Amino acid sequence: MLVSGGFVYALDSDGIAVVTMDMPGQAVNTMNETYCDYMDETLNSIKADRDKLKGVIITSAKKTFFAGGDINKILEQKQLEAWDGAFELNMRLKKQLNELEALGVPVVAAINGAAMGGGFEICLACHYRIALELEAVVGLPEVSLGLLPAAGGIVRSVRLLGIQRAFPLLVEGKRFKAVAALEAGLVHELASNVDDMMLKARAWILATPQAQQPWFAKHYKIPGGDGFSPANAMMLAGAPAMLRQKTRGLLPAPEAILAVMAESSCVGYEAAMMIESRYFSELLRSPESTSLINTMYFQMNEISAGASRPSGIAKNKITKVGVLGAGMMGRGIAYSTALSGTAVVLKDISIENAEKGKDYSRQILAKALARGRKTQEQVDQILGLIETTESNEDLSDCDLIIEAVFEDVELKHKLTREIEPFLKPSCIWGSNTSTLPITLLAEAFSDPARFIGLHFFSPVDKMALVEIICGEQSGDDTLAYVYDYVQQISKSPIVVNDGRGFYTSRVFGSFCDEGLHLLSEGVNPAIIENIAKAAGMPVGPLSVMDEVEIELMRKVGDTNLELDRRLDQDFHSVHAKLQDLSKEMCELGRTGRGTGKGFYDYAADGSKSLWLGLAEKFGGTEVIPTEDIRDRLMFRQVIETIDCMRRGVLESARDANIGSIFGWGFPAHTGGTFQFIDWFGGEDAFAARAAQLEASYGSRFSLPESLVAIKAALD
Ligand code: NAD
Repeated sequence: MLVSGGFVYALDSDGIAVVTMDMPGQAVNTMNETYCDYMDETLNSIKADRDKLKGVIITSAKKTFFAGGDINKILEQKQLEAWDGAFELNMRLKKQLNELEALGVPVVAAINGAAMGGGFEICLACHYRIALELEAVVGLPEVSLGLLPAAGGIVRSVRLLGIQRAFPLLVEGKRFKAVAALEAGLVHELASNVDDMMLKARAWILATPQAQQPWFAKHYKIPGGDGFSPANAMMLAGAPAMLRQKTRGLLPAPEAILAVMAESSCVGYEAAMMIESRYFSELLRSPESTSLINTMYFQMNEISAGASRPSGIAKNKITKVGVLGAGMMGRGIAYSTALSGTAVVLKDISIENAEKGKDYSRQILAKALARGRKTQEQVDQILGLIETTESNEDLSDCDLIIEAVFEDVELKHKLTREIEPFLKPSCIWGSNTSTLPITLLAEAFSDPARFIGLHFFSPVDKMALVEIICGEQSGDDTLAYVYDYVQQISKSPIVVNDGRGFYTSRVFGSFCDEGLHLLSEGVNPAIIENIAKAAGMPVGPLSVMDEVEIELMRKVGDTNLELDRRLDQDFHSVHAKLQDLSKEMCELGRTGRGTGKGFYDYAADGSKSLWLGLAEKFGGTEVIPTEDIRDRLMFRQVIETIDCMRRGVLESARDANIGSIFGWGFPAHTGGTFQFIDWFGGEDAFAARAAQLEASYGSRFSLPESLVAIKAALD
């Protein structure tokens, strides 16, 4: 047995070598220079035993098989000035896997857990793949970080599956659990446990002594043909346009992957590998991959690790949650909570209402059952966790209450006072209000330290984010408790402080507000909508206001004005245009999608068209440069985010970025509302553009002087 750093190499009497990857000091194996050194040494050992060698099995001693590229290393490579630097490093990885693949004896990957990115690229260089049925998951998710699989992943999977079948793996970055991977042709065989897997690997080697990659065979043909075959040529003529329609041309990675798939299929193996590495080196330098790596990898990991959770407080396990209000939000919260295995008491003003709320879970689970995603036993178990009630007594053993009744201060206060006497003294109270100040709502609770905001997004079962809002007196224990609850139900928490609209509703409001500024200046509404989408927003500001309901936005505005008067504050003025125009629209009976009339007209067949009256009312012929419309819509959100930081509503760039992407669909390729500044070219470029917008369009675009200080404090 030989140990090469973190790789153990053992050759048995049958001539079968087992390479077990176990990189020291790391929870998972990753692809970095140390890995390359171990792999070099291991390959040397294998080659030294070449005469006795019958085959090789590669497996891992970690819980996962291999985690993929070392992201820190990738970031380092990003800093390399010379374009060739990254290219050379990448070619070293490729050379090793090529050697492994061309050893001349059968090589098997024994996949004992997740094999993602670079990990699955190792597997693809092997001639046969056996995966543990319950533990293994494989995929090439590089596209989600703005990169491409560059250790031969594209070249090999196109040769394995063909161009068209490789799309989900490469362009969509889909993950495949073992059974799905077998069906997709990504692995050859499943095993029930490690011993079974190793036995099967040995048996295959002994039965297939001549095995080598089929694509080395002289007349190997890629399934479905190369990029020149008539079917692929036709598909490839249209595919870039279809892809662009999906990505709006904002994501260079899927486009580069498609190009590599097509180009690499038309040339020999070596040239194909070079093409893959060249595209990779270019993607490595894109601002999109920097932003995606920063936010979707590092900051998302920080959130999972509890970065905004107070430290030194033991992890809580929440056993029973009371949900007040079984309406649109309450029913979704009850479902998501029960899905995580946590008991729920769902209360409404009548048992009929509460049961109607539970019907929502019944419907989702019936669909899951019909599609084979859940068993009857699982369905029964989840539904069994949701108890419906109209009685306050049934809340007595809840650890956490989540209030989701109508958005009305007096009602929420009354309900809090009425229910508190029935609760355990330790019970935490979370309000799902979307706009009302938490500190104000907490006045009705005897211990405001146990009162906090828990802002879910609609539809709750699909939206991965929860915005936790700390009132002035919310305690650290309370924050830690609800942070744990949000993670327990498999959602991502961001933490903000109290303030009008908190963070997400406030910044989202500024996007709508700017759309209405443009409309009232006479810009054609179709242009506003299209440019917002071209900038990467999921829908335009007019569409989204119809969806949220203009009537609701007007009501929120009115409440805000009233609260400003009552609390002697002035949070509201930033969204004055939204307030004025939503009122005007409601007076015209155009209250939003619910009534079929908003900024759009909605036909019975589900189609919609912009309301013609908009042109009459606002003109629609004013011409403003496209870049100005785009930047106005985006800069308003970023400047509002900076303002949330200045006011102390936000305390971290991480929460700003993740909250914006998962809360209201701010374009992920920019890295979120705060990372946008770097994506745009850095503070100076951002400040210079803001100054231009301010000079042309007004003080809404003025930056707080402290931008640099805020950024420095958060970096
Ligand atoms: P909804 O109108 O769909 O449901 C409210 C439910 O509360 C109704 O079933 C009603 O019968 C029940 N209710 C009223 N008084 C009650 C009482 N005294 N005891 C028990 N139940 C009572 O409202 P919704 O859209 O689910 O919103 C609920 C809360 O969530 C509001 O504060 C809202 O601002 C907030 N919110 C809504 C959204 C959204 O997109 N709808 C998003 C985030 C937060």
